[in-house]
Amino acid sequence: MKSNYKIAILISFFLFVLTIGSSISYYMVSMNSMERQLKTQSLPLSVDNIYTDIQKHIIEPYLVSSMMASDTFMKDWLINEEENTAKIKKYLDSIKNKYGMLVSFLVSEKSQNYYTQNGFIEKIDKQNSTNKWYFDFKKLEEKHEINLDLNDNISNSVIMFINFKIFDENANYLGATGVGIKISYINEMLQRFRTNYKLKVIFLDKNGNIILGENHKYGTVENIIDNTVYKEFKESILANNSGQQIEYTSKGSKYILNTKYIKELDIHLLVEAKLDDFTQDTKQNFYLNLSISLILTLIIAIIIINIIQEYNSKLEHLAKYDTLTNLPNRRHFTDTLHKYLALSKRTNEKLTLLFIDIDDFKNINDNFGHKIGDEVLKIVAQIIKENTRDSDISARWGGEEFVLAFMNTDLKTATTIAEKIRAILEQSTQIKVFVGCGLTISGGVTQYHPSEDLDSFISRADTAMYSAKESGKNKIYKV
Ligand code: GH3
Ligand code: MG
Ligand code: MG
Repeated sequence: MKSNYKIAILISFFLFVLTIGSSISYYMVSMNSMERQLKTQSLPLSVDNIYTDIQKHIIEPYLVSSMMASDTFMKDWLINEEENTAKIKKYLDSIKNKYGMLVSFLVSEKSQNYYTQNGFIEKIDKQNSTNKWYFDFKKLEEKHEINLDLNDNISNSVIMFINFKIFDENANYLGATGVGIKISYINEMLQRFRTNYKLKVIFLDKNGNIILGENHKYGTVENIIDNTVYKEFKESILANNSGQQIEYTSKGSKYILNTKYIKELDIHLLVEAKLDDFTQDTKQNFYLNLSISLILTLIIAIIIINIIQEYNSKLEHLAKYDTLTNLPNRRHFTDTLHKYLALSKRTNEKLTLLFIDIDDFKNINDNFGHKIGDEVLKIVAQIIKENTRDSDISARWGGEEFVLAFMNTDLKTATTIAEKIRAILEQSTQIKVFVGCGLTISGGVTQYHPSEDLDSFISRADTAMYSAKESGKNKIYKV
């Protein structure tokens, strides 16, 4: 029995190792493919998408501003003492409308006048903080810049200005022009990338200062390179080549950072993915798989144990019971009788034994065939069972011989039971159906002597039965 459980445990263990092994390998493969997909597809694709978006939204204003700065009408108008404000108003207005900009503007260096599509707005003043941008821009070496600004004259939200310097044919500085666009859409885009694709998007200027970034507050100077883990990749990030992929680990989490230099705007685009954000589902699946595997292993183990138990009890039954009559066999009978003898010795209760042999059973087989003989044996067994108590033991001794032990029963009572069984069998209509007449038996009854052993007890009953046979059969003899 124990070794059977060992088999169940062993099978369950192997099953468990197999399922866990396959879950783990599936998990590893999924994690690897997820990381590979992120590195080779999701991130590069997102960078491209953002770049396309940027091109659509920023490069167009950039080109429009560039075009304005080189427009001869604009230059001539500035050179010709800014005559007829309506002309420049019309020009700026047409630019604004044609390209769908929020604002188009011009600042004349000579007059310090600030114009928009609405015409003359104000005279710029160094002391005025809202005009500071112009003086800062003028000082710049570059001919253009992207400037985020809050201009109450135009809008109450942050505007991205693309400023271009205007020069005459002799490279004399004439002023600044350009367009402004609302940047709220960029913030929306950054948010969208964060919520939809779990990606962090940042724009840096060439010095590593954040121009735009999720949660970045306009007006605050935040240099990503000096303040964060990006520091050690500073050169890589700010390199003016087409793009790269950087991997790093921070606080136990792995990050993959794709960078792209946007030449037209001289800014760096950073798209970062935290690997954990992408592997959550895989991890959850792994735990789910593992739990299902464990439950399945448990169920299979229970099924195996049940099958083994059932098989065992069948084997046990086969070892103890006769397959034809379903009565206990000789071994089981003697095992039980041993216990009864011990009990009888202790309690002094009377114990009697009845040995039965069917008379001329061979004739039944010969006349009606073995199958009918079997049926008759089954009926005999059934009749014996029906006419004995649960505390009695009845068994098939072998062939057409049966043995019965009666606890707490004296010789006289046992003889009466034996006679009753003999009479029933002789009259049995069930048997008559098969063989045309009743069946007679010869029996020997004897009572246990507390001093004797099992063999002598049985052999005395057997001898009594033979005496019954010899004296003409169909009799019960008692000794
Ligand atoms: P007696 O009155 O002297 O006992 O005669 P008998 O024919 O009953 O005795 P014998 O020992 O000559 O024959 C017993 C027969 O019982 C022979 C054997 O084929 C038959 N037998 C034993 N076991 C089975 C069984 O399981 N099925 C069938 N059909 N016959 C069986
Ligand atoms: Mg016999
Ligand atoms: Mg016989």
